[in-house]
Amino acid sequence: MTMQSREERLRRIKENPHIGVLIIGAGINGIGTFRDLALQGIDVVLVDRGDYCSGASAASSHMVHGGIRYLENGEFRLVREAVQERNRLIENTPHLVKPLPTTFPIFKWFSGLLNAPLKFIGLLERPSERGAVVIKIGMLVYDFFTRKQQTVPKHLFRNRKDSLKDFPSLNPEVLFTGTYYDGAMPSPERLAIEVLTDAVEANPHALALNYVSLISAEGDRVQLLDEVSGESFDLIPKVVVNAAGPWIDLVNSKIGKTTHFVSGTKGSHLILDNPRLREAVGENEFFFENKDGRIVLIFPLHDKVMIGTSDLRIDDPDDAVITDIEVDYFFGMIGRVFPDISLDKSQIIYTFSGVRPLQRTEGGATGQISRDHIVKVNQAGELLDIPVFSLVGGKWTSFRAFSEHAADLILAYLGKDRKISTGNLNIGGSKDYPHGKAGIAVYLQRLQETYQVDADRVKWLFESYGTHTEKILKEQGSLISQGLDSISEISVGEIKYIITTEDVLHLDDLILRRTMLAKLGKITPDSLRELSEICADVLGWSKRETEDEINRLKEIMKQNHKMDFNIFLGD
Ligand SMILES: Cc1cc2nc3c(=O)[nH]c(=O)nc-3n(C[C@H](O)[C@H](O)[C@H](O)COP(=O)(O)OP(=O)(O)OC[C@H]3O[C@@H](n4cnc5c(N)ncnc54)[C@H](O)[C@@H]3O)c2cc1C
Repeated sequence: MTMQSREERLRRIKENPHIGVLIIGAGINGIGTFRDLALQGIDVVLVDRGDYCSGASAASSHMVHGGIRYLENGEFRLVREAVQERNRLIENTPHLVKPLPTTFPIFKWFSGLLNAPLKFIGLLERPSERGAVVIKIGMLVYDFFTRKQQTVPKHLFRNRKDSLKDFPSLNPEVLFTGTYYDGAMPSPERLAIEVLTDAVEANPHALALNYVSLISAEGDRVQLLDEVSGESFDLIPKVVVNAAGPWIDLVNSKIGKTTHFVSGTKGSHLILDNPRLREAVGENEFFFENKDGRIVLIFPLHDKVMIGTSDLRIDDPDDAVITDIEVDYFFGMIGRVFPDISLDKSQIIYTFSGVRPLQRTEGGATGQISRDHIVKVNQAGELLDIPVFSLVGGKWTSFRAFSEHAADLILAYLGKDRKISTGNLNIGGSKDYPHGKAGIAVYLQRLQETYQVDADRVKWLFESYGTHTEKILKEQGSLISQGLDSISEISVGEIKYIITTEDVLHLDDLILRRTMLAKLGKITPDSLRELSEICADVLGWSKRETEDEINRLKEIMKQNHKMDFNIFLGD
């Protein structure tokens, strides 16, 4: 982010506490709304108690999807909007969102036919496993929604023989496989930071601050705490947006009175280093169901596989971590579909868990709670003397539409007009993106020659940062050719660029969110030492502070990601 230093941003808002909009929570919905308002010229401040995109938005299944199974709940509006937004994200962000073939192995013919009608008359507690007929109907309807845009290919159905030819490790009892297309975002955290960067670059009066929490509010003043310095200060906004995801009700209770807008369900994932399973799925995400309709997915994440997810009610979002029961459940399910591939817990390189901020409902199967979004408006006088807009629910996929809807309500309240739509805006490093394979080849060749960098390095940067690559090459010069001793594909220049431009305050910001190093199992004693030394160099950490940062990372890995780093690092 080319922006002022954190100190400068803090000084500005402390000196001028009267602002248009204050957004609490920098998950994708807070960030999306921040971008939309910034583009309309509104003075807007975004804060998060932790790092950007560290809540529910960092816990997703990495799918940009219409939600084919929500058709069964009769949620046609949601699916239509999500499919449209899926296509937009693939088109507007080609370096970070790609079409994803999604394959269902099917073991039943007619099962699940009654799910939708029973749901309609309110008699369905838990759906049963969907069979071939139901899945085929779902795929036809899905194709219908997306027939005009040809962003992704149509679905494909294979019989047993063809299924086993394409996926030889599949359980031979399979009857069919169906493949349809959704989108994959291998690095949601990077996508979020690029949306944020666009906002800040578009409007000098759009200020974002990680590690700043809302602690209380009264009248028209909101009290914030700088988690770094421990100092608190007040802002006086015209509107507050509560984008705290699963913490929405907790934030509202700090600023006024208790609300009951969200009831979260926990979902966990693990990442496995299992080359046989990785080879078995190819470039497909596999998506399949237990006999009781619960879903498991296997997602190809570079050379690893990501497995998820559960859907369990939880009271406190801060308690979300993976449990042994969830791990055993995932392993059992994979065994049903790929029976000859042996799985071992020692192959787990990372786990993560988060809470879906769903609209509050009581009872029923968690998988059937609506994933739709809604803005709950508390008018001036209800919670505070100013209105509070709470952004409840939603999916990563449809964040743009949700943010646009929220921004429209806020603009109407402020008496301002929309100047620009985000619908067709390229995001971050997708601006001026070269066309097709030939265009990309020409672009990479030019960068290689202009900056005298080898082809692999330029390709790596382009796949991660799109057309921001040129800026990185320009700013970092020869440091781009200097690979880390511990991870040769990553350069010292790339890491320095991230630290200086993307608000890295802690080592874990760099390792867990700005890069995919933790998710891809790249954290070793050597890489940790090298990365923390670069951070120390750029951010001026003392030896003691650097050690504290390493210990903080180890603690986060242990508590939140269930990875015992001490054993792992051989301490
Ligand atoms: C397991 C799981 C799988 C999912 N899979 C998918 C998927 O594949 N595709 C898809 O489209 N969607 C998926 N989703 C849904 C999607 O991830 C969420 O709906 C979305 O990320 C919610 O974003 P948010 O910004 O509303 O909330 P969050 O990302 O949780 O952001 C809220 C932020 O508020 C901050 N905050 C809390 N309290 C305070 C405070 N007092 N002061 C300041 N800040 C505060 C938190 O730190 C947090 O960063 C999944 C969700 C989960 C949990």
